[in-house]
Amino acid sequence: MTPVPLVHASLGEKELAAVAEVFASGWPAGQGPQGKALEAELTKRYGAGDAVAVSNCGAALHLALLALKVQPGDEVIVADYTFPAPAHAVRQVGAEPVFADVRPDTGTVDPQAVAALIGPRTVGMIVVDTVGLPADYAELTAISERHGIFLVEDAACAVGATYRGREAGALAPIGCLSFHGRKGASSGEGGALIATDPVLAADVRKRSSFGIGSIFDQAQIVGLPIPEFTEIGYNYKLSDIAAAILRVQLGRIGELLDRRSAVAAQYAHLLADEELLTLPVVPDDRTHAWQTYMVTLDPAVDRAAVATELRARGIGSGHGTWASHLQPAFGARQSCPVSADLFARNLAIPMHAELSPDQVDQVVGVLRPALRRAAA
Ligand SMILES: *Cc1c(COP(=O)(O)O)cnc(C)c1O
Repeated sequence: MTPVPLVHASLGEKELAAVAEVFASGWPAGQGPQGKALEAELTKRYGAGDAVAVSNCGAALHLALLALKVQPGDEVIVADYTFPAPAHAVRQVGAEPVFADVRPDTGTVDPQAVAALIGPRTVGMIVVDTVGLPADYAELTAISERHGIFLVEDAACAVGATYRGREAGALAPIGCLSFHGRKGASSGEGGALIATDPVLAADVRKRSSFGIGSIFDQAQIVGLPIPEFTEIGYNYKLSDIAAAILRVQLGRIGELLDRRSAVAAQYAHLLADEELLTLPVVPDDRTHAWQTYMVTLDPAVDRAAVATELRARGIGSGHGTWASHLQPAFGARQSCPVSADLFARNLAIPMHAELSPDQVDQVVGVLRPALRRAAA
């Protein structure tokens, strides 16, 4: 049997041709013609006020909190069951992440848990479209408006997903996307911030380039204006090489998502009667981007034994994502029991756009007997 990897980025000839064009242009660095074109295309796709291409989603989250003027001592509520980039961003600006537990069925943040955590120091929340499934934005938006606190959407995994017909990434005033190699659209590393407010986006763009703006643009001006560094910025620019790759990938989102959705449908069909696991739940009002396919194992199943057997047979598997509050870096004294339970029982099985129906059959053919052997 040939190995079935957990993930596989769909990058090919069209992306290579786009990179060749950048090489020929002589401008491979950031904020050049490709970056600008990408930002225009993202703004259009998301119906946004503006979009800023950045080096990764972690940078987008950090810049969002800087632009929102989050201060040391502030509290920001973050969804707990996720790659813990939101909590990292909160710490990067010296504020306190407060971890909100999640819904047991979807793994997305529980709006009631968020509401219960709001206190005098709360300035906002970062919610996550968990492994590609949008959170409960109707409820979360209402909470954010009622309390006058900001709402940031971490849509790192959710490119192509929808909530009540609207695109993930544009479900809150600020959306942060990832184009890391494990996500639905990729340039290896990459990210973007999608904003309804163009003034905030301009601030983000400036902070992403050492606070002085585009070097490419400055070279086009006749004369010799010397820009001044008026604030401390970062170098969070996306290269024009990555931007060119992403412009191709954006055009392929529908095609790639159709292929991942077909894999999800095949898993759901083949595993529907499997008593030792629970399948992912997608509420009727939203669609999943299937960045990861996670099943929840019965408490009687030894997950490590299942993963070991899958990997020994060449089938990629993983724990899924993290209970953020349990990560030592945050020293949290909170408990999020639902998130901790999903962290202990979820199993990620191969999910990407290059999987064939035969490979999906192969995964299920190994998984089912492995579950039986690993059940106490
Ligand atoms: C992958 C991921 C990130 C980080 O994205 P990078 O582009 O690698 O910085 C942030 N948030 C979530 C929810 C993620 O899954």
